[in-house]
Amino acid sequence: MTPLIEAKELVRIYALRHGPFSRPSFVRAVEDISLSVFPGETLGIVGESGSGKSTLGRMLLGIDPAQGGEVRFEGQPMPRLGTPEWRALRAKMQLVYQDPLAALDRRQTIATQIGEPLDIHRIGPRESRAGRVEDLMAAVGLRPDQAGSYPHELSGGQRQRAVIARALAARPKLLVCDEPVSALDVSIQAQVVNMLSDLQEENGIAMIFISHDLKVVRNLADRVAVMYLGRIVEEASSDVIFQSPRHPYTKALVSSMPIPGKKLEGRVILQGEPPNPAARPSGCAFHPRCPVARDICRTSTPALRSVETGRTAACHVVADNAAIAA
Ligand code: SF4
Repeated sequence: MTPLIEAKELVRIYALRHGPFSRPSFVRAVEDISLSVFPGETLGIVGESGSGKSTLGRMLLGIDPAQGGEVRFEGQPMPRLGTPEWRALRAKMQLVYQDPLAALDRRQTIATQIGEPLDIHRIGPRESRAGRVEDLMAAVGLRPDQAGSYPHELSGGQRQRAVIARALAARPKLLVCDEPVSALDVSIQAQVVNMLSDLQEENGIAMIFISHDLKVVRNLADRVAVMYLGRIVEEASSDVIFQSPRHPYTKALVSSMPIPGKKLEGRVILQGEPPNPAARPSGCAFHPRCPVARDICRTSTPALRSVETGRTAACHVVADNAAIAA
């Protein structure tokens, strides 16, 4: 099957200046990332803040152009940002941000904004648009009497529902959700996640779900890619990642998940803060925090490789163990 979206060896480097006369330092926000997402599938992307997850999400949509590598959508190269071809493609791939208030126009009603993609992409006859907006509002759990509301008149959860309705208006094939529930009350998060999951299933949409919240990703994703400092360090099905993580960083992340009744003993506690992306450690970037680092880890960057059927990992120790087991 052809992937809906496919990325090959993506690279994104930012220049950071600390003052008008200072030399720039360079941040490799995304480095050598390859992945694919198939129709109807959900790929979870997890990692600490600064791991490059959001940059990767924008690159997959062509919003942040890649400086190396390429993105293909339905087998075709991603058109350049802002071109008519890219704008046409945007109807098929939508982005849901963390902050719904920033994503909505305060001066326009919810119904107007939900119907906006229908106008932009000239979808359906004009006379049917009001009906389509009503259907979309119902699908995300907004009441018909909220159609004339402005964003500030809705709760955070309702605003995010409106953003999701707008994202679905053009019947996209791919939704990229970047921390879509992390700004919401915990009590609302599960409702919005369940709604997203139901809508995805009903409409057969593929989803890339970016989050630092492993619990949410575990419930939603078919496959999970774990990122550390701009690279994918492990990728496998959600069950495999959460039941038997093998990369030391994934092990630490999974073991830090709060599980009711689970004692703290036996948990792998991550030492230190995530390093500064502008001062990436040599070799394996995780080596200063890794409990099983070897000498080679300080000098040699491990490649992401298949270590068992359906699992890739970027770790010298995991690769050696896989070679012994083979
Ligand atoms: Fe740890 Fe070395 Fe594996 Fe990196 S390559 S995760 S430092 S063991």
